[in-house]
Order: sequence, then structure tokens, then C-alpha cells
Amino acid sequence: MTNNPELDVLVIGTGAGGAPLLARLAAAGLRVLALEAGVRHRPAEMPTDEVAQAGLFWMDERLSAGKDPVGFGRNNSGRGVGGSTLHYTAYTPRAQPDDFELLKEFGQGVDWPLSYADLEPYYDEVEQFLGVSGPSEYPWGPPRQRPYPHPALPLNGAALLMEQAAQQSGIRTSAAANAALSRPQEQEGYGLRPACSNRGFCQAGCSTGAKASLDVTYLALAEARGATIWEGAQVTKLLMKGGRVSGAEFVRGGKTQTLHARQVVLAAGAIETPRLLLLSGVGNSSEQVGRNFMAHVGVQVWGLVDDDLRPYKGIPGGLISEDFHRIPGLVGGYLLQSLGVMPVTYATQYARGTGKWGAALSEHLSQYNHVAGINVLGECLPYAGNFLELSSELDERGLPKPLIHFSFGENEHRMAKHAETVMRDLWAKIGAREVWALPRAAHTIGTARMGHDPSSNVVDAFGRSHDTPGLWICDNSTFPSSLSVNPGLTQMALSLRTADALIAELKA
Ligand SMILES: Cc1cc2nc3c(=O)[nH]c(=O)nc-3n(C[C@H](O)[C@H](O)[C@H](O)COP(=O)(O)OP(=O)(O)OC[C@H]3O[C@@H](n4cnc5c(N)ncnc54)[C@H](O)[C@@H]3O)c2cc1C
Ligand code: SF4
Repeated sequence: MTNNPELDVLVIGTGAGGAPLLARLAAAGLRVLALEAGVRHRPAEMPTDEVAQAGLFWMDERLSAGKDPVGFGRNNSGRGVGGSTLHYTAYTPRAQPDDFELLKEFGQGVDWPLSYADLEPYYDEVEQFLGVSGPSEYPWGPPRQRPYPHPALPLNGAALLMEQAAQQSGIRTSAAANAALSRPQEQEGYGLRPACSNRGFCQAGCSTGAKASLDVTYLALAEARGATIWEGAQVTKLLMKGGRVSGAEFVRGGKTQTLHARQVVLAAGAIETPRLLLLSGVGNSSEQVGRNFMAHVGVQVWGLVDDDLRPYKGIPGGLISEDFHRIPGLVGGYLLQSLGVMPVTYATQYARGTGKWGAALSEHLSQYNHVAGINVLGECLPYAGNFLELSSELDERGLPKPLIHFSFGENEHRMAKHAETVMRDLWAKIGAREVWALPRAAHTIGTARMGHDPSSNVVDAFGRSHDTPGLWICDNSTFPSSLSVNPGLTQMALSLRTADALIAELKA
């Protein structure tokens, strides 16, 4: 396949950005191949062991700077056929229409070069295909054209307590949309996916196929329609020919190889995508590659209760409230979500967040079965000081490691404080014995922004590079703003939209 002149599209990365697009292109009869740095993690082979599942995460060192340095590693992004969806919680809320127009509404941040109406048909298509389970009535956002394909999933212990506390506080909650099945569903290319058995292992890899990670959904479809996926193939450079991106150099099985294609889609996530662009010196006439890095305000508040909650049990992504989508005096807002958590993840977060260690940490962890958590995802504005650059430290391949500078601005600090107060009040309402907050930033977003103006954006509204023919970008790096919702569903919708534009261009 090396230097194969017949490949129509080469896709780099198979996560939420790469996978739906790969399936769409293959279904259109195009010759497509994806290079994925990670390996396949087949559901049936996923051990029921949180520690053994560290291989689902991107563990190569990423350097962190700034006043609020981002914690990478297990809290960050995935590596494998399916990308970060192998370990995502599968919360799948849609963004609201005003999420795409922060600048218009507040005079801060930027507007997206597309609207909710542009994405709505794609949202609907992704929800139906993945088999999202969700409520029949959702209190926020515009009315839906079609109901969720499956009824909502049952709530875990933390979600039931949060629901009770919110009722007492007059905060509306709803069962969340979650891309795990509440009923079995046949999936083209994979077979029958069973209903969720509530084992709670979503963030350590679903061993049954009930969770819609992309390996059991869009990638299975892609392969059934003729796409090829090469696992264990880490791209190290984009190749240029005649002023256009013509392929990629990658390392597979210890050997450096090249592949060429008519078009190349970079879908390696919001850290590796700008890193590859900077390493290759491609697509950066705007000097915006690596700029505008964002991470959601993600403070968690935990309560200690008498009930035997078993936080590892049940679907971790269960209950949501978007009542704080707008907060007077702040730009944007946040959502509240209930948590489920595995013990090692919890212990790591607790030690990091509180600085407790040794006997104090052990004593706290002996109460693990009685802790319940709520999380927020809050808007993060783009700031000039938050960016990714190549550091002078080299990785094992001799390539510069990425260095990410990140500090919350005043809006993020005020939002985190607001959210912490709300969540502390909630746990106080149900008489939690002890309440503590873990400050956090979540998700990696921005760094190759989409927008109409080529002088201040890297790609256009469809992910097409403004300055380099043959190059498309399709992952969380293109988000102009963080949105106050989980990014996965929006990313998959964008992926189908980019695929349609790419098909139109190739077939023109
Ligand atoms: C713990 C956790 C829980 C989450 N829960 C949710 C949730 O409930 N709902 C939600 O919507 N979102 C959730 N997310 C976020 C969501 O998973 C991401 O927003 C989404 O997957 C990002 O898509 P992406 O295409 O940008 O990157 P990814 O999905 O990370 O895919 C990038 C892929 O590119 C590959 N790659 C990278 N570099 C190279 C290279 N050089 N060569 C070849 N391949 C490469 C990677 O191995 C990876 O497979 C969660 C994230 C985390 C960390
Ligand atoms: S709780 Fe359901 S979706 Fe999550 S890992 Fe278990 S079976 Fe899969």
C-alpha cells in the first residue's frame, strides 16, 4: 500500500472526529484508510480491572505550564481504535443554539462559522445510529425532531441523591442522554450490541459493546463498507507535494513508512493535531496553530453520606441539569452532571485535588463506598496566553514534546466558584457529613480553530485548511469555543458534515 496512488483519503486518528467520517467516506465508495497510533481493544477482551485498562489512554508525556496546568494522562485523551470514546462516559447532550454565538450575545469569545440548524440533522443522525438512550421530555434547548431511539438508562446512587437534592433546591434535572443502550441494538459491521448491564466500567472500557464507543459503531460500519484501519501506526509528519498535503510518514512495527492520498484528514485530537502541524510546518499561515487552547471548567464536588452508594456501580453518566446554562454577570454557563467513579481514578483525583497523602488518604479511601459526586462543564473562553507549542524536550521518537500553557481567566474562576457553591448547597441539602471540592479542567479543545477569516483561523466551516490544499482537520482542535456541554456528540456531527463536504469535493 506504500505510495499507493489510488487512495482517495487518508485519515489520521480514529476517535470522535475520525471515525464517523471514515464510515461516511467508505459508504460513498471512496478508497479510504485510517492510521491509528493505538491498538484495537476488543470489547470481549477488556479486563474488568481499572488498572489494567491504562492502555486506553494516551500516556506519552505532555508538558503543562501556566497558573492552572492541565493534568494529562488518564484524565485526558484516548489511544486506540476508537480514540477517547473507548473511555468516555458517553454523556451525549446537544449544544444549545446560543452556544455557537458567544460573541453576538456577550461581545466576548468568538462565534462559530455555523449554526445549530446546520448541525441539527447530523445530531439526529448520530443519535439514531449510536443508539442514544435519553428522556422523552428534555427541559432545555429547542424541541427535537425525533425522540431518542431508546428510553433513558437507570440512575446510579450519586444520580439518585443529586436528583433528590436538586428537587429540594428547585433546580430542574433530567435523565441524561447517554450513548449506552437501554435496549439491544443491531449494529452494521458489529452485530448485536446488548443493553447496558450497569457494571459501571464505561471509563475503563465497556466489555459488552453496550456503550457506543466508535470501535463498535462507526468504525465497524466503516470496515463493513470497505475502509481499512491500520492500528499501531503513529504519524510523525505530514508530507507535501506540489504545494499540497499529499500523505503522511508514520512508524508502524518499528519501521518508518509513507502513504499518499488525494486528500488527508487530520483527526488526532486537540493536542496531537497541532503538534503534527507544527512538526510538519504545514497549515499555519495564520499563525493560529496551537493557539486558543481551551479546557472546560470542570470542578467536582463530592459528599460523604451514610448510604452504601458503591460509586463503581451503575451507569456513571446518568443525571443532568442545564439550569445554569446562563448566569447573570458571566459569559456563558455550565451544566451539572452526576458522577460514577472507579476507585483508582477517585483516589488519584482526591490525592491530586486535596494534597492528602499517606494515612490521611488511606483513611479517606476507606469511605469510598459512601461518596457521591457532581461535576460541571463550564464555558472556557479563548485567551492569548493559552496555547500549545513544541518544547525543547524530545520524546522517545526524537520529536519535540508538546508544551501546553493554560490559565483560567476571571470568567472561568468566577464560574467555578458559582458552580462550587451550587454543588456544595446540593450536598448540604441531603445532609452530607463532609463536602469537598476538587478543582479541575476537562477536555482538550481549540488549537486549530475553524472560522471564515483565513487570517485568524486554521480551517473553514467544513474543516478544510484555509491555506493548504489536500488538508482537512476534523477533531476537537477546530472548536472555536468550548461549548458548555460534553464535546463528543457535536464532534461526531461535525465529522459527518466534513465528510459530506469532502465527498462533494472529490466527486465534483
Ligand atoms: C475521562 C473522559 C471522559 C469523557 N467523557 C465524555 C462524555 O461523557 N461525553 C463526551 O461527549 N465526551 C467525553 N469525553 C471527551 C471525548 O471523548 C472527546 O471530546 C472526543 O473523543 C474527542 O474527539 P477527537 O477526535 O478530537 O479525539 P480522540 O477521540 O481522542 O481521537 C484522536 C485519535 O487520534 C489518535 N492519534 C493521535 N495522534 C496520532 C498520530 N500521530 N498518529 C496516529 N494516530 C494518532 C489517538 O490515538 C486517538 O485514537 C471524555 C473524555 C475523557 C478524557
Ligand atoms: S455500565 Fe453499561 S455501558 Fe458502561 S461499561 Fe457497563 S455495560 Fe458498558
